[in-house]
Amino acid sequence: MSKPSQFDFDFIIIGSGFGGSVSAHRLTEKGYKVAVMEMGRRWGPDNLPSTSWSIHRWFWRPKLGLRGFFNMRIFRHVTIFHGCAVGGGSVTYAGTLLQPVKKVWESGPWAGLADWKTEMPTHYETAERMLGITENKILGPADYLLHRTADASGCGHTFYHTRVGIFQPTNGEPGGQTLPDPFLGGEGRERTTCIACGGCIMGCRYNAKNTLDLNYLYLAEKHGAQIFPETKVIDVKPINGRSDGCAGYEVETVTSTAWIHRQPRRFTCYAVVFAASSLGTMELLFRLREKGSLPAVSAQLGQHVRTNSESIIGARVPGCREDLSQGIAIGSGVYIDEHTHVEAVRYPRGSDTMSLLTTILTDGRPGSRRIALWLRNILVSLLRHPIKSWFLFRPQGWAREAVILLCMQAVDGEIQMRWRRLWFWPFRKFLVSGGDKVPTYIPQANQFAKKFAEVAGGTAMSTLPEILFDVPGTAHCIGGCVIADSPAHGVVDSRHHVFGYENMYICDGSVIAANLGVNPSLTITALAERAMSFVRPAPAKAWESRVRE
Ligand SMILES: Cc1cc2nc3c(=O)[nH]c(=O)nc-3n(C[C@H](O)[C@H](O)[C@H](O)COP(=O)(O)OP(=O)(O)OC[C@H]3O[C@@H](n4cnc5c(N)ncnc54)[C@H](O)[C@@H]3O)c2cc1C
Ligand code: SF4
Repeated sequence: MSKPSQFDFDFIIIGSGFGGSVSAHRLTEKGYKVAVMEMGRRWGPDNLPSTSWSIHRWFWRPKLGLRGFFNMRIFRHVTIFHGCAVGGGSVTYAGTLLQPVKKVWESGPWAGLADWKTEMPTHYETAERMLGITENKILGPADYLLHRTADASGCGHTFYHTRVGIFQPTNGEPGGQTLPDPFLGGEGRERTTCIACGGCIMGCRYNAKNTLDLNYLYLAEKHGAQIFPETKVIDVKPINGRSDGCAGYEVETVTSTAWIHRQPRRFTCYAVVFAASSLGTMELLFRLREKGSLPAVSAQLGQHVRTNSESIIGARVPGCREDLSQGIAIGSGVYIDEHTHVEAVRYPRGSDTMSLLTTILTDGRPGSRRIALWLRNILVSLLRHPIKSWFLFRPQGWAREAVILLCMQAVDGEIQMRWRRLWFWPFRKFLVSGGDKVPTYIPQANQFAKKFAEVAGGTAMSTLPEILFDVPGTAHCIGGCVIADSPAHGVVDSRHHVFGYENMYICDGSVIAANLGVNPSLTITALAERAMSFVRPAPAKAWESRVRE
């Protein structure tokens, strides 16, 4: 069957994060007419906020007038932090790009479906080249403290410099130098070297972090892909009388930042790539299955959601002589035991709002006893050391004086996401979490935070949601539409085709079927590279229906 031409686009990609950007670039390269629908805004050095106090330019809650690039969703089992922008999570991410250990391919529903260990290295290599990954050469005071703490805890030999997607100065050169494209063989934009301001998580205002709009998306757009920012996809349905999508799809969008005139638009296409992140793709697919647009999506939707078993702890050193915000956002890490990985994270000077979520570290099993212990600790601190406590809890100076220790465990633990009505708001359904709780208390991590505080001369910290509600925080939500052998076990096959539909793919963190134990973006990128490598170049594509063949 030759390719008819009555469609607006060959492929419509929903979301412009890691999976979406790779898909956009590779499909454009293969000769397809591609559109990328992205509900977030475009960001660059001229409009990124200088600190997190510019809440309206940092946080994403368009109905409240907040049109930033960072979102936080609170569920009963987990608080999920994620990005929302042209370039997806890359605008707010720390730039740490690590490969997981090979045994992640041996567990979970994707095990045995491909020769992952042989295939993936090539795709990781391509992803590393495109994302411009190098070993971090910029260590700040927080990294040296991490190293000293690791030495004092007997795991100093595991200290490593992170691998990052940041344009670093060559040895000895000062940062801030603008040079021709260093990463994309001269096809990319000129870039400026990193000045170690620690601001990666607030978005790089110095053109040094390798965000997707500077690599994959940049090339996709340069070669013809059309990016629609502030455009939210609200419906996807098969058309032309074929319910399996083999005759194309209609994609409906609205303006994500509009209050009243939401400008509904409809586009047609042959093929769709869902790349709206683990949370975004799950939410959209649940809604579309419920309303009957995509009723055949597997009942496994929402299963095997993983939070990388994370715990966010840290330390604050009031009156610290050094500026702990200096360096890059995540400059180094250590392995405190076989399963437990800790990274030193920082916010840029002045970005003190996260202090509102932090409090004194409190040990013990979650529940009322831990809350009581925490209240006692606060009271004792206030009564015994009122001035010290004031300096410990005040927001001002938090980013300069604090280090977050991001603890990730490579042990398995998963939750489910469901589409339910809430008892207090029964008028519509929402995404809600279910299953066993992921532990918020990792004793060895707390021990390490205390040692860190001792070495730094400060106080160990934890986050309020973990203590009060036993809810861990994560920036690394993955799974929910996992790769499997059949719809009985997952939502997509090993080439990312959605079970039950033709010419429909998922390329984002939702397909990951095991706990990676490291930050996931490099794996999402490499998996998307692999998925796109199976799509034939445009002239040869038959738009085949597997049903009809
Ligand atoms: C503060 C922070 C720091 C992080 N640091 C790191 C790090 O150092 N290393 C690392 O590996 N990972 C890091 N992460 C995690 C990383 O950002 C995510 O794992 C990654 O971005 C996920 O990629 P993705 O392709 O699944 O989707 P995303 O990159 O999340 O992109 C999905 C996009 O889809 C859009 N979207 C969603 N729904 C719709 C819709 N209906 N219509 C249109 N568009 C839609 C969203 O706006 C978003 O832009 C960090 C995350 C945060 C929040
Ligand atoms: S440390 Fe500062 S200059 Fe360097 S990449 Fe991060 S935000 Fe950009």
